[in-house]
Amino acid sequence: MPSLREVLDEIVAEMAGHPDRGEVASYIPQLGKVDPNKFGIAVTLTDGEVLVAGDADEPFSVQSISKVFTLALALGRVGDTLWKRVGREPSGTPFNSIVQLEREEGIPRNPFINAGAIVVSDVLLAGHQPREAIGEIVSFVRSLADDDSIVVDGDVASSERATGYRNFALANYLKGFGNLNHAPELTLGVYFHHCAIAMSCQQLANAGRFLANAGRIPSSGHTVISSERAKRINALMLTCGHYDGSGEFAFRVGIPGKSGVGGGILAIVPGVASIAVWSPGLNARGNSMLGSIALEQLTKRMNWSIFSPK
Ligand code: GLU
Repeated sequence: MPSLREVLDEIVAEMAGHPDRGEVASYIPQLGKVDPNKFGIAVTLTDGEVLVAGDADEPFSVQSISKVFTLALALGRVGDTLWKRVGREPSGTPFNSIVQLEREEGIPRNPFINAGAIVVSDVLLAGHQPREAIGEIVSFVRSLADDDSIVVDGDVASSERATGYRNFALANYLKGFGNLNHAPELTLGVYFHHCAIAMSCQQLANAGRFLANAGRIPSSGHTVISSERAKRINALMLTCGHYDGSGEFAFRVGIPGKSGVGGGILAIVPGVASIAVWSPGLNARGNSMLGSIALEQLTKRMNWSIFSPK
């Protein structure tokens, strides 16, 4: 089997020449300005080794990948009572869909679609001003990545607030069903800001380490969440992490992953590695086109699919 170093270099070379890079998201105007030719990948192994290739040091907007971190934080705050307000089933609908909310009386299908993540933001806002809740989320992500330079990109947050009509619709609908405890604009302030956290692949792969290591940060031994909870978050990433493209991602890549419309994907090989990949062009389901292809190649060449016999 080739070494991980060789595989990453091959993948970067192959992606550089790829003819179809997808479309950069433009419904958040600030994201539409990103260079579609960027490609980066970082792998943090559970033994602490970090390997990077391509534009792995350049920060990008993590967008919905941040929902993994807010979910972990909210579960720490309210425990399993969270599941009274958010479901755990794949939605089979796009990230910003409202259709199931009416049928399911304001209970979003899972914490990774926008409606579910807005409820999670509402949980994190309890007892805080929005600024404090955002500060808490950023501090948590910094501690996971062991990197205090991680910040929110204020221009992206403002750009999303200015054009976030569908998210306002979702939040108002949730409020109408009694599943938001705060004013929609306050909860959305938290949501827009955590989506606007900027991280490089290297920072993101480090931030995901605890999920590859049964809830513990390998370098420090610090327990972030229980191994049971890490297992469950990984399961949700596998079944719901790519919206209506989750089945296809599991089929082709075979590991838990969470995408964001900034073109990033955080993917976890339990017991082995946390992987972050970034290519801004998206496929029709709103997931990174080359990021998905690169992860498919990586899991194939390293035999990392959780469904392959080891
Ligand atoms: N902030 C984005 C939105 O709410 C997140 C979507 C995504 O990354 O998939 O539209």
